[in-house]
Amino acid sequence: MRLTVLGCAGSFPGPESPCSAYLIEADGFRLLVDFGPGSLSNLQRYAGLHAPDAILLSHLHCDHILDALNYVVVRRYAPDGPYPPLPVYAPSGAPDRLTTAYGQEDSTLEDVYQFYGLQPGTFPIGPFTVTVDRMNHPVETYGVRLEHQGRVLCYSADTAPCEALLRLAQDADVFLCEASYLDGVDNPPDLHLTGREAGEFATKAGVGRLLLTHLVAAWGSEAHTVESAAAAYAGPLEVVRPGAGYDV
Ligand SMILES: [Zn+2]
Repeated sequence: MRLTVLGCAGSFPGPESPCSAYLIEADGFRLLVDFGPGSLSNLQRYAGLHAPDAILLSHLHCDHILDALNYVVVRRYAPDGPYPPLPVYAPSGAPDRLTTAYGQEDSTLEDVYQFYGLQPGTFPIGPFTVTVDRMNHPVETYGVRLEHQGRVLCYSADTAPCEALLRLAQDADVFLCEASYLDGVDNPPDLHLTGREAGEFATKAGVGRLLLTHLVAAWGSEAHTVESAAAAYAGPLEVVRPGAGYDV
């Protein structure tokens, strides 16, 4: 598997990055996980406008989905189009939410996207064996475990600490984990992880490598987050950047 980071800013676009979007490729099949604002630029820069063969949206917060709306134009009105409906795996409310947000009351997005409702379990997408489970976040949110030829990539999505995350990340070769919060301050509960918590989950799950994401540049301190994570996890770790690629 090959992971390419298209965007990794938490909660809103940062000065150096669009919001969450990750392209994962295996056997020539490309799955786009989350499609946050601004990431459509980097999709073109690092992969290609029509690169995704399928999309998975972990949850319906704005910072994870909004470029799926801009992408309607790309598919529907292409000079060599329209393109056939693209599979979109997402929480059950996605068709209504995206259609409403797109704002064309007399039509659906069914010509652009074929929606599949997520629920906890294991299923195939292209060459990947995908396992999703509910995370600890205020809306219906799915963490994702992708397996391909014995290799494992786990993505936390947005979550506070929960047992399901530990199960999903167990023995993952690469653990792409959010670290939105700073340690040592009074963070709201049941929303996000700190760097230290990301490190603790990485250690407990026995992962091979920790990739920190969803940091909020304007509110946090990357150095502090890395230090906190490294205090709890002895393996290799780094904060991801747009355009960074990883072989899993
Ligand atoms: Zn969220």
